[in-house]
Amino acid sequence: MSLDIAVHASTSPRPDEERASVLAAPGFGQTFTDHMVTARWTPDGGWHEAQVRPYAPLQLDPATAVLHYAQAIFEGFKAYRHADGSVWTFRPEANGERFARSARRLALPELPVEDFVAAADALIRTDEAWVPEGGEKSLYLRPFMFAQEAFLGVRPAKDVLFCVIASPAGAYFARGVRPVSIWLSEDYTRAAPGGTGAAKCAGNYAASLVAQQEAIEQGCDQVAFLDAVERRWVEELGGMNLYFVLDDDSIVTPELTGTILEGITRASIIQLAGELGHKVEERRVGIDEWREGAASGRIREVFACGTAAVVTPVGRLAWRGGEVTTGDGETVGPVTSAVRQALLDVQHGRRPDEHGWLHRV
Ligand code: PMP
Repeated sequence: MSLDIAVHASTSPRPDEERASVLAAPGFGQTFTDHMVTARWTPDGGWHEAQVRPYAPLQLDPATAVLHYAQAIFEGFKAYRHADGSVWTFRPEANGERFARSARRLALPELPVEDFVAAADALIRTDEAWVPEGGEKSLYLRPFMFAQEAFLGVRPAKDVLFCVIASPAGAYFARGVRPVSIWLSEDYTRAAPGGTGAAKCAGNYAASLVAQQEAIEQGCDQVAFLDAVERRWVEELGGMNLYFVLDDDSIVTPELTGTILEGITRASIIQLAGELGHKVEERRVGIDEWREGAASGRIREVFACGTAAVVTPVGRLAWRGGEVTTGDGETVGPVTSAVRQALLDVQHGRRPDEHGWLHRV
């Protein structure tokens, strides 16, 4: 039986002019729509009290389990307004499936994929006016789930809240797409075998912050992590997967090992790049292969991918004692550019959706 979602509309939504000015230049993750979805889980009642309600702060007891033991997971995907005004999300079922896998790993209750998708749809329909038009703009959806039981004990919570909020998002690169620089984290790893690397759980991001801070101190934009065992294999960035374009026009992405996040953008690019005529390989990529390949020209382009920035070119890779730059470090390579455009075109309804990736809201 699917979740019954009641709608309690806000009596004080933001005025039209205020919304219009946000949508003109949304930025990312700063402003939220007028409503949110919440649903509660308890062992006896299962999922219940599902509702769309006015966006508002949550009140938490200081003993709320998530504040102490980080039993929390989240997702991120986007809704796009097409030229005819219709609104679509991109592969929300894939996010729902990953959310269920994350829930299992964090000993949280699973929310059925159809309820995950229905909850996002209900919020998007209620706040439809917040889905921006044109360009690379979208409405970013942030479903999350956490232990809300007020209890200081290390065990799975018996009271869990599922919530969806939404935030209008502008073009990630406000001043045009430009390559980012990457700091190689040699002191910190992101995930170990048997750990939570493949889950989208809050703690993974908390653990990555100090490495990201180091990257900024070193004059870089983002941090890249290696595997935790050999400290040799390239895994991913703090919030994006990686791709390498080789001089024979094939493209390579680190294989899924259980310690990297199974990016939905990554999976979509495996299919799209094949259609664009590239051989695509998922395999281990050594950090030496990156360093040497960038220096010799064997690696022609490097790009990162994820929901927020779609496809981001990578220029410089720096580490303690050295650096190497792919391409000229300034312009965007042709393969990166083509993949980026193809994906954006599907999402915004400008390229046929041959895989049935779009979901009409
Ligand atoms: N890796 C990490 C660690 C991430 O947080 C994300 C963003 N969800 C990604 C990769 C990219 O995943 P997706 O393409 O599903 O956004």
